[in-house]
Amino acid sequence: MVILRLAIPTPMRRSFDYLPPQGIDCSNLTPGIRVKVPFGNRELVGILLEIANHSEFPVHKLKPALEVLDETPPLPTHLFELARWSASYYQHPVGDALAQALPVLLRKGSPCERAHEHLWRATCDASPEQLGKTAHKQRELLSALIEHPQGISSDALRAEGYNTQLLKTLVEKGQAESFVHHPTHDTHADILHEAPLTLNTQQAAALDALNRCEGFAPVLLEGITGSGKTEVYLQAIEKQLREGKQALVLVPEIGLTPQTVTRFKTRFQVPVVVLHSNLSDRQRLDAWLQARDGDARIVIGTRSAIFTPLKNPGIIIVDEEHDPSFKQQDGYRYSARDLAIARAQREKIAVVLGSATPSLETLHNAQQLRYQWLRITERAGNASAPRFELLDVKHQPLQAGLSASLIEKIRTTLNSGTQVLVFINRRGFAPTLSCHDCGWIADCNRCDAHMTLHRNPPHLHCHHCDKQTPIPMRCGDCGSDQLQPIGAGTERTEDSLKRLFPDTPVLRIDRDTTQRKDAMAQMMKQIHTGEPCILVGTQMLAKGHHFPKVTLVAILNADSGLFSADFRGMERTAQLVLQVAGRAGRADHPGEVIMQTYHADHPTLQHLVHQGYATFAQQELAQRQQAQLPPYIHYALLRAEANGSGRAEAFLAAVREQLESDILLPSGVQWLGPFPSPMEKRAGMHRAQLLIQGHNRRNLHQLLHTLTHFLEQNRETRKVRWSIDVDPADTF
Ligand code: ADP
Ligand code: ZN
Ligand code: ZN
Repeated sequence: MVILRLAIPTPMRRSFDYLPPQGIDCSNLTPGIRVKVPFGNRELVGILLEIANHSEFPVHKLKPALEVLDETPPLPTHLFELARWSASYYQHPVGDALAQALPVLLRKGSPCERAHEHLWRATCDASPEQLGKTAHKQRELLSALIEHPQGISSDALRAEGYNTQLLKTLVEKGQAESFVHHPTHDTHADILHEAPLTLNTQQAAALDALNRCEGFAPVLLEGITGSGKTEVYLQAIEKQLREGKQALVLVPEIGLTPQTVTRFKTRFQVPVVVLHSNLSDRQRLDAWLQARDGDARIVIGTRSAIFTPLKNPGIIIVDEEHDPSFKQQDGYRYSARDLAIARAQREKIAVVLGSATPSLETLHNAQQLRYQWLRITERAGNASAPRFELLDVKHQPLQAGLSASLIEKIRTTLNSGTQVLVFINRRGFAPTLSCHDCGWIADCNRCDAHMTLHRNPPHLHCHHCDKQTPIPMRCGDCGSDQLQPIGAGTERTEDSLKRLFPDTPVLRIDRDTTQRKDAMAQMMKQIHTGEPCILVGTQMLAKGHHFPKVTLVAILNADSGLFSADFRGMERTAQLVLQVAGRAGRADHPGEVIMQTYHADHPTLQHLVHQGYATFAQQELAQRQQAQLPPYIHYALLRAEANGSGRAEAFLAAVREQLESDILLPSGVQWLGPFPSPMEKRAGMHRAQLLIQGHNRRNLHQLLHTLTHFLEQNRETRKVRWSIDVDPADTF
């Protein structure tokens, strides 16, 4: 009896049994291969988990699978195991988790092979003499083919003015032929394209430590912004390449940091593949296969690239490891940073988590000696750290968020011939539109949130559910026409800066101005001319950019995060402030950072500004330990949302009650809640959450497995949408 136990991409957390397709030899079916099966009235692509000889279902009820799609599994064993482990750890349906580890074309059942590139060449006994004397064009084409013994694409030939008909004629005369081209890389060429920089002492020490790593080696590389971490990555990768290995580099957002990709491509003469969101499904599969087959030597990608297979893995680098984008926030809620550690452990290689502002989780792991801890405390080259000033704006009139003394400072900076960066973490014109007569505020009717006023084009926009409406002419309450924008977002600040500095270009960089594909690149080009200009933007400006001519960074509204409901609010604020500040004075120009704040005396801000991130992080960790918050305890959230107020909360209360009476709570595991979510209503749904915490991961996960199983079986769950978030990045 042979039964195929399959993972099928459905929301159900279980495997499915099928009989093998009729008449196939089952002796060499390996777990991991894809199998096409009938599922309801659809055909789905599943993945073989195991071959069983017994099913809990009566065998006559099992359906035969339709087709075995692979001879060998698309994912190498280590990655297949990682993906299965991850599904279980993050309580996600295994079929969907495995599907998400594969490129879209493989999920749909396409063959696991690269697109063939057809090239043209002359046949071995081709000769122009055999062509008629008058066939000039044919002779010309044949000579062109003879000049390219490696083959030439039909596109290239067309560009030279030879049409397809001409090629066909040569083929018919036995003079030309097409063949399938398998790109190979000249492995004997030097891997370097440009010489590496000479490292300073701290960089050299870090590189040396990385080069001495053997087997599984998790490393935190903590280096202030501009300290030359990227240079250390490049040289660590160089060593791996020389040993025939490959490197995987994870970055927060490729579209925003084209410079980083360029640095990898200009340093090395090896194939680099970049997995960015503009790739077609076909291009993505080709890139994935190049990595799997060892042809691509460096793979750069965002979160989902963590599942890219490598034939000869050498090192994994997670740049800006603190960045929240490494954690997927919906559906399959995995953390690519944490999976990078789990992956490196399976592949027995080094994994470098790099940041100027490491997450407290990672710092804690380094302190516990679970990670090796490397530090770079000085800026590289001639650059020096920027001077930091807290500007108290209490009782000061603000003009679109800018105080008079800041405006003065911007003026002197521009006059000295350098550039200014103004950071404001809010896009749109103003965060609220309010009635001057009665205080009414334009709210989103689907969320517990205000609508943001946008001027360009004019509309109200909810940044939580994306609802957009025209700007009302009258107050929704008293009918007055005295509606006014309150507060400032990037659009409004841009407006005022343009009026204040009419002769200086003002570039706004936020989600609204970078929608167009090449918009970001265009603006970067202008910035890199070095001419005086003002950049106004959101946290998009904080990520990995190198602006050599920016000497003044102004931070307008970052201190609101100090009082966030989330216990990570403080950490996030500190990281954001220091990342933005890090854009100042990166080359030979010393930089200055001015942070406007209403809380200039706040002890946390004071520590951050005067003693730096390390001291701040120490104190923050001490407080987390005292309050028993992560990383000193592990969290999972059961979230629920339902139509109608109170229903999600009642559902969670019932779940808790039922489970508390039914099971022995594993030791040290606690429930907290249910509570309404901090923004209770969102996109028309009412939301609540139940927090589950434990000191011991194993015990916590034991409860989570029971919980998931219970929720899957429970009929009540049909009326609410629920999800489990393990190690949540936001606790609301
Ligand atoms: P980080 O990634 O830590 O922010 P980068 O690697 O981007 O820092 O380095 C910042 C700048 O310093 C870059 O322009 C880089 O070329 C330069 N740099 C890095 N290392 C050195 C070095 N050893 N000597 C001179 N310049 C360096
Ligand atoms: Zn009113
Ligand atoms: Zn909304």
